Amino acid sequence: MGLANCPECGKLYVENPAKLCPDCYRLEEENEEKVAKYLRVNRRASIPEIHEATGVAEKIILKMIKKGRITGDIQVEYPCESCGRPILEGRVCLECGRRVLEQVKPETKLAPKPPEPVRRPGEGLHMRIDRR
Ligand SMILES: [Zn+2]
Ligand SMILES: [Zn+2]
Repeated sequence: MGLANCPECGKLYVENPAKLCPDCYRLEEENEEKVAKYLRVNRRASIPEIHEATGVAEKIILKMIKKGRITGDIQVEYPCESCGRPILEGRVCLECGRRVLEQVKPETKLAPKPPEPVRRPGEGLHMRIDRR
């Protein structure tokens, strides 16, 4: 346990698992309560809608989702971390997820490059002129 600067307000505070100063932590809990209350009535909403209705910053709503605070049969749309398309679960949309998987796959062996065509100096230039 040491001292740290609160990432929200910059105030010095004694480090805690919430990683926020007590003031910001209380505020965050209040905000989460507001959002949770809204979602009990509106089971499907987008982040801007929640923001409109509760006044809670979109950033905080997003944080709640990432922390897994929004669960059950509630569906909240939030942007894919990669392309920004609205998604309902995970960190990225299906397509971006698939793309990541493909990049990770070990079987993407590099195909041997075809040998560079040997070109005599000036040849390419002549060909292009002839064709015109
Ligand atoms: Zn703070
Ligand atoms: Zn995406």
